[in-house]
Amino acid sequence: MEDPVIALVRFLVIKRLAGNSSMLMAVKEYFVDGVSPSSISYKYKVSKFRVRGYIQRVTEKTRNSYLASSIIKQVFPVILEVEPAVIKVNEKYVCLLCDQSFNNEITVENHLRRKHEEHINKTIKEVLESVKELSTSS
Ligand SMILES: [Zn+2]
Repeated sequence: MEDPVIALVRFLVIKRLAGNSSMLMAVKEYFVDGVSPSSISYKYKVSKFRVRGYIQRVTEKTRNSYLASSIIKQVFPVILEVEPAVIKVNEKYVCLLCDQSFNNEITVENHLRRKHEEHINKTIKEVLESVKELSTSS
């Protein structure tokens, strides 16, 4: 199994690079602030089904929601300092790394994973270095 810290940081970094801020905030509010999925869904106008899907994916990466919450609390401020690699222009998403444009955020994330793996890994490394000694005990 992949290291839970790296798996989770990778998940958050891809959301940030893809410019998906509402999902980042949703994950942080659920795991760190204890906000309920229905309040998050209402606040960010994302379906409850999607919010639960993201929570489930985060939990799967760490197998433990206390560990997830501890990691997210520590890396979140650093993740917010990462420059997004994609911006939304009108209804299109434009990749700033290669100038391609896309119709939706799922395609954008797949594009980042396929074409910009190096950029993703470099960002993950930078995040982990700024957090320094990440404590995984809750
Ligand atoms: Zn690109």
